[in-house]
Parts: sequence; C-alpha cells; structure tokens
Amino acid sequence: MMSSSNSNTTTTRELIVGPEAVTTPYPIFVEGDVVKGFGRGGKQLGIPTANLPSSAVDQTLENIPIGVYYGWAQIDQDVVRPMVMSLGWNPYFKNEKRSGEVHIIHSFEEDFYGKPMKVAILAYIRPERDYESLDALVEDIQFDIRVAQESLKRSDYAAISSSSFFNQH
Ligand code: ADP
Ligand code: MG
Repeated sequence: MMSSSNSNTTTTRELIVGPEAVTTPYPIFVEGDVVKGFGRGGKQLGIPTANLPSSAVDQTLENIPIGVYYGWAQIDQDVVRPMVMSLGWNPYFKNEKRSGEVHIIHSFEEDFYGKPMKVAILAYIRPERDYESLDALVEDIQFDIRVAQESLKRSDYAAISSSSFFNQH
C-alpha cells in the first residue's frame, strides 16, 4: 500500500492481536497519578485518554516502541477494566519525551485527574499513523478498542486482571 493514512485500514485488520499467551517483555506494569494533558480533543472525540506522569513513562516504557497497546487499567480502588494505550511523543516536552495515554474502555461519570492509575500493558497492536481526517483516526481507535476487548478474552490475558499488582477486593 502506498499510503499509511488510509481511512479504509480497519477493513483489513485482525480482531485478535498478539500471541496466544502473554509473551515477554509483557506484562509491563506501570502506575502513577493521572496528569492533565493538552486536552487535544480526546474527550470531544469521545475517546478521553488518562495521561500517565512522564516519570512513570520514562522509567518503565523506555524500551518499547511508539504505538498502540492493549491491556488492563485500574483507577484507585475501582474495578480493573480493559484499556488501549497510546505511547507517543509528548508535545509538552518538545517531542523529546514520550507520553503514555490510556483510554479505559468504560463510560465514567466524572473525570479522575490526580487519582492513582495502575496499568498492565499486555501486547502491541499497531504503530502510530498519520491521518487525513479525524474520522479516520476515530475509526482506527474504535477498532483498537474492539481488538482489546476480543484479545483480552483469552484466558492468559484475562488472568492478569486478577494479578496482585491491582488492588483486589
Ligand atoms: P487530557 O489532555 O487532559 O488528557 P482528555 O480529553 O484526554 O484530556 O481527557 C482525559 C481525562 O478524561 C482523564 O484524565 C480522565 O480524568 C477523564 N476520563 C473520563 N473517562 C475516561 C476514560 N474512559 N478513559 C480515560 N480517561 C477518562
Ligand atoms: Mg489525554
């Protein structure tokens, strides 16, 4: 394919991504208090992303590629939920640092800035892409969400939601 920015990419994507069992270097566990991002439209697009503090990203996500991942996330003592995470370049730090932004697959009543977030990254979905339209971006993320939901049903992936890393009740 000539262009990486193709609004039709979802038609050729697989719903189950990643090996049958969680494979090294995953799971990668990372945690930190949710920080404010640039508010660059995540919420307006219906896809808010809870940003990890840069210290947590620097320490833990140094050796994995830029792109989109799936796994589990937990806010404070809440239930563990599926998530998709974007690891990208952070404009706030002149694109010299990386940013980790987690969209939790759940409809929350309220924002949770400042709350502790725990994240288990389990597999890589795809690299970052350039998009010709917001619609194409949203379409790709909606598909990432389906990939996360389907891929996390597999027993080895599902089991990690009960890990002692998370606050269990
Ligand atoms: P910012 O640029 O400040 O990260 P966003 O538009 O990405 O702004 O919104 C992120 C905020 O929205 C999160 O920090 C969190 O408080 C809230 N939020 C509400 N629902 C979700 C969700 N399902 N996933 C992630 N964050 C959410
Ligand atoms: Mg965000």
